Amino acid sequence: MGKNNVALVTGGTGGIGEEICRQLAATGCKVVANYFPADKENAESWQAAQKEAGFDIELAPCDVTDFDATGAMIADIQSNVGPIDVLVNCAGITRDATIKNMDIDAWKAVIDTNLTSAFNVTKPVLLGMTERGYGRIINISSVNGQRGQFGQPNYSAAKAGIHGFTMSAAYEGARKGVTVNTVAPGYVSTAMTEAMPENVLASIIGGIPMGRMAQPAEIASAVLWLSSEDNSYTTGACIPVNGGLFVSH
Ligand code: NDP
Repeated sequence: MGKNNVALVTGGTGGIGEEICRQLAATGCKVVANYFPADKENAESWQAAQKEAGFDIELAPCDVTDFDATGAMIADIQSNVGPIDVLVNCAGITRDATIKNMDIDAWKAVIDTNLTSAFNVTKPVLLGMTERGYGRIINISSVNGQRGQFGQPNYSAAKAGIHGFTMSAAYEGARKGVTVNTVAPGYVSTAMTEAMPENVLASIIGGIPMGRMAQPAEIASAVLWLSSEDNSYTTGACIPVNGGLFVSH
């Protein structure tokens, strides 16, 4: 085994998180999937399904918007599973509305879950990584954090914030063997997009140059490369995986 012995994926039992967990587990890494504590029953049946499919994945319940609870989860993983070598910040939610119609709760929930959670988890994990001189952190953003989206001011702001956070963290890790990067998916076939109105989704798909949504595995493979030892010199970068929906350099 190489340097990647333990990986933590927040929102690991979600659509994209599951594929990331599976691809990491297939490399021989011990994978821990974080999930929202209220979902215990679902998470346990998810874990059993992974086992049946040949993937042995540990579970870590924690609301990653809670700073103290997150610190306790990280301490627990580091002492019971091992030091975390790979961190994927993947937990996320949407609460869409225009600025005109959005209430403060929807604003805060999305900023807390998509942006503040990355700080809560990265802070204790980065400390261990820099002390040990090795680590890989990948933050899941979105095409809508790069270009904005009508009806998603909270989500676009949170995901754009992830880019700034990633670049700053990359500077902190650069001399300590820690790379920090962002993967910015376009539209991916998961529960998050299933919740969108059919006509809105159809019009979005019509605008994707590749003419289709991504499958979660297509996002996970970009994460896998960024998390590997082979990625020894890419840091502070954003890798778009969006079927050509937003092309920029
Ligand atoms: P899912 O809804 O399938 O997965 C998101 C996961 O995050 C769920 O398991 C959810 O748990 C978990 N989660 C939410 N809040 C918390 C919390 N406070 N603490 C711990 N876990 C939490 O969505 P996707 O897999 O599609 O999304 C994964 C990531 O990819 C997100 O960051 C999303 O913003 C991003 N993304 C998704 C795109 C898409 O088209 N699907 C496009 C671009 C980016 P629960 O279900 O219990 O709430």
